[in-house]
Amino acid sequence: MKKRLGFHLSAAGGVYNAIDEAAELGINALQIFTKNSNRWTAPPLKENDIKLFHEKWRSSGDLSIISHTGYLINLAGEGENLEKSKTLMREEILRAHLLGIKYLVLHPGNHKERGVDAGIKSVAENLDEIFAEDETEVMVLLETTAGQGSSVGHRFEHIRDIIALSKCSSRIGVCLDTCHIFAAGYDISTPEGYVYTMDEFDRLIGFDRLKLFHFNDSKKSTGSKVDRHEHIGLGVIGSTGLSLLLNDERFNHIDYIMETPVDDVRDDRDNLAVVLGMLK
Ligand SMILES: [Zn+2]
Ligand SMILES: [Zn+2]
Repeated sequence: MKKRLGFHLSAAGGVYNAIDEAAELGINALQIFTKNSNRWTAPPLKENDIKLFHEKWRSSGDLSIISHTGYLINLAGEGENLEKSKTLMREEILRAHLLGIKYLVLHPGNHKERGVDAGIKSVAENLDEIFAEDETEVMVLLETTAGQGSSVGHRFEHIRDIIALSKCSSRIGVCLDTCHIFAAGYDISTPEGYVYTMDEFDRLIGFDRLKLFHFNDSKKSTGSKVDRHEHIGLGVIGSTGLSLLLNDERFNHIDYIMETPVDDVRDDRDNLAVVLGMLK
């Protein structure tokens, strides 16, 4: 495969299980949660599980593995919730480090009623506080958001500003989610819209920061600010826009991770077949 392509897969029953599933699917990129994504606490990774993970990863050949943080973390907030978020974020970084995972995806967070500028400042400050005491080399990838509720990160400017405010910006990269940016108002469904959006990204953030794609179609229209993933080509972005990104040779070194539904319409194998068919 000339592209780096795969899925978010469940690591239920052991973090290493997803590596077996990746091998069965024949993908070369994999994203996992290293803990339950809706809980504040998790039992520490067992030494034997870490060992198995490394063994399986080594024998898997050329497989990228990316970690996604749990959904409760909000580094744009304040108070007790923020303290819990920072503790959990430190644990997420440690877990990724122990598993040898280089990239950890983070949703920038929700500013609640404090305003987007306050949220941006908080994310930068809180990441800096965490990085200051952290000796790992795990890179945090800020994920573009759809703009639901009070989420920060639905404009490229937000991500640019977090990076600019951080004193440890060498530890920060970006994950671009196609469904999220489309819902946020970046219409990548047409060739003109695609070119404009990627130029904007490069102008405001820079392609050197871009480390990962979440490659999803969208159930909701552009500007809806509603985050609902759809099977590849069956959504409102559609095959034209997604194919432009998939076949953009500037990004041959970047992993494309699908977070598509598994339902009566299609499973992961079906979406993979569709995407392989789109590859030129
Ligand atoms: Zn995400
Ligand atoms: Zn999403």
